Amino acid sequence: MIKLERPNRPVAFTAAIEHALIAIYLESNKPVWHDAPGVVDALRTMSREKCAYCEASIAERNTPSEIDHFVSKDNDPTRVVEWTNLLPCCRGCNSRKGTHDVLAEPIINPCDIDPKQHLLYADGYFRPKTALGKTTLRALDFTLDRKLMRAIYELTLQANNRLEELAEKAAAEPPPTKGNLTRLRNRIAALMEDGQAKEKFAAAVSTAILRSPDYVTVKAFLQQADRWDAELQNLEDTLQSHALL
Ligand SMILES: [Zn+2]
Repeated sequence: MIKLERPNRPVAFTAAIEHALIAIYLESNKPVWHDAPGVVDALRTMSREKCAYCEASIAERNTPSEIDHFVSKDNDPTRVVEWTNLLPCCRGCNSRKGTHDVLAEPIINPCDIDPKQHLLYADGYFRPKTALGKTTLRALDFTLDRKLMRAIYELTLQANNRLEELAEKAAAEPPPTKGNLTRLRNRIAALMEDGQAKEKFAAAVSTAILRSPDYVTVKAFLQQADRWDAELQNLEDTLQSHALL
């Protein structure tokens, strides 16, 4: 989970439409959010087509798009299409969270609270740093979805393996030629791209990269060779903002 920046409510989704949709929901109990103009697209753009909770690609995990009501419809039906109450979500997280009452037992809303303040990722698992983190993980219980946990872990392993290979190249004798240095610089940049917000499981991948001793080795080597540039530093700053350390 990474921090999300919620954009302004879509202009086409007027207060009059919202009131009409709430009335339809209260009467029929049928889903109405897909009739809120611009909302689904705006939410999916906000999360870069990922689940706001587990960061899986929604396209890979879903057939139709799902929207989580942060305050569930059972707990407050009048917020059924409230812009700030809607989050893009995969089917698994949506069903595991279910009707969890966030008013009675708050959890992280990634649009409002930075997950890194409350969660860790270590040894293939998300773990709580705080009471809010604990409630969040209990409500979302990612561990029930073994396929999801394995997919996240595999990406972190891949990152670690690539870093190990790069660290070996950095330590090789004789030292890398100018061309090889450029290749090394480009390969670490490509690896850091995998922890950027648009990529799935960015929080876990960012954590794996920053925690790796091989990353420290490669970075120190490039710094010494005067090849640690502003673009690499920007990529690292973003990893820092996502990492659950
Ligand atoms: Zn999810």
